[in-house]
Amino acid sequence: MSAIVPDLPPPPLHDNGPGTAPGRVLSTLNEDGSRRWVRPELATGHFHSKRLVVAWLLIAAFVGLPFVRIGGKPAILLDVLHRRFTFFGTTFLPTDTVLLMLLMLTIFLTIFLLTALFGRVWCGWGCPQTVYMEFVFRPIERLFDGNRSKQIAADEKGGFQPKRLVKFAVFAILSFLVANVFLAWFIGVDELRHWMNHSPVEHPAGFAIVATTTVLMFIDFAWFREQMCVVVCPYARIQAALLDKSSLIVAYDVDRGEPRGKLQRVATQDLKIGDCIDCKACVYTCPTNIDIREGLQMECISCTQCIDACDAVMDKIKKPRGLVRYTSQERLAKGAGRILRTRVVLYPLAILIIGSALGYLASHRVPAEVTLLRGIGAPFTASTGGVVTNQVRLKIHNRTNDDRRYRMELRDADGMKWIAPENPLPVQADHAETTTIFVESQPGVIQGEKTIVVHVDDGSGFTADVPFRLLGPGAKL
Ligand code: SF4
Ligand code: SF4
Repeated sequence: MSAIVPDLPPPPLHDNGPGTAPGRVLSTLNEDGSRRWVRPELATGHFHSKRLVVAWLLIAAFVGLPFVRIGGKPAILLDVLHRRFTFFGTTFLPTDTVLLMLLMLTIFLTIFLLTALFGRVWCGWGCPQTVYMEFVFRPIERLFDGNRSKQIAADEKGGFQPKRLVKFAVFAILSFLVANVFLAWFIGVDELRHWMNHSPVEHPAGFAIVATTTVLMFIDFAWFREQMCVVVCPYARIQAALLDKSSLIVAYDVDRGEPRGKLQRVATQDLKIGDCIDCKACVYTCPTNIDIREGLQMECISCTQCIDACDAVMDKIKKPRGLVRYTSQERLAKGAGRILRTRVVLYPLAILIIGSALGYLASHRVPAEVTLLRGIGAPFTASTGGVVTNQVRLKIHNRTNDDRRYRMELRDADGMKWIAPENPLPVQADHAETTTIFVESQPGVIQGEKTIVVHVDDGSGFTADVPFRLLGPGAKL
């Protein structure tokens, strides 16, 4: 039987003497605190092929969704500037606090449920950080710098390397493109097109946002990389609470693998060892630089690269695949696992209840919101002849997908006349407009205060009667 010998020694552990941190602090840090660059070897295999398909479908969705329109609205638009969030044809406004809260709760509970069932499947298969890093930027890096050994050799050589400069130029262009797609989710494709087709001088704020996002993307994919998962991402921190012993994880089968040993030793010393030949292929392929044989670790993003790497090794030494595999801690310990657990029942139940409430409230929303506010400045004015004038600001938010014209009428307003410069008030689909109404009351009509009703009608079935308290001489302010 031929020995599997790794192409390179394991990442060096620096011994910096007294005063330095003993052992591993972080998988991507040397003991002296310096960055340990991760140069993973690509492990092609069963899971990698599947992830490749998923990744490119997700990239297609990421690029395409901002262009898709449903009912005249973008499929997804997280318009932070105007505080409007559109999801598949439904727009949520800041006033939709309850709906937004229910939506967020549904999203969070779904993440909790998926994590309880499938562990960090999101991190390894769906997170944009992983998808772009592993399926766009890393392959380009391999194109320029070669495989892991060549990359490490180039790191050790240091100095100016023209190939790396060209690689970073390509990274910069890609970062610019990704930044633009990313922004399209927040400002919409129309606004983005406007920014791109006009001089930066005309929209300095837009230009600054695009430039900053591009720089951040570049820093992330060219330099920060796995630190995002290992140090920054909060999801990694809370996974311990979301996972249980039955959750699906990528794990090493200790019973089968240990005691590990090199094949040469087995052949020459006739030793009885486990299936792990300590080739470290699973370590060299890991994008967060951990050794899966040390058990479940916070840095593991469940990318399955170690499964593919180890399966290839098992094929070579003619042992069954799956020494590193998708399993659960419970399955590893007892040989069998449970799918049904308390949390796996409670999460879907909560999702069903909250999701139903969300669906009901979203489908019963009024097609327009009418708000009456007192005019800015003095609450009312009184002429020498005793005529009292109230200034009323009327705001209409058209929530429908069509432009509407809202006609206003004053009710319960005997002895009053009113001036409405814009009546009917045109309001574009999913926009809000404000107009001012002046209500003049004959002397003596308002004794302190009087409530009138403003009737609004859009001519398409929507009507609203909104009461408003007019003020006059003697009013308690
Ligand atoms: S678990 Fe598999 S890939 Fe990792 S060192 Fe052992 S044999 Fe090699
Ligand atoms: S341990 Fe395996 S699954 Fe976890 S991040 Fe490393 S390669 Fe991916």
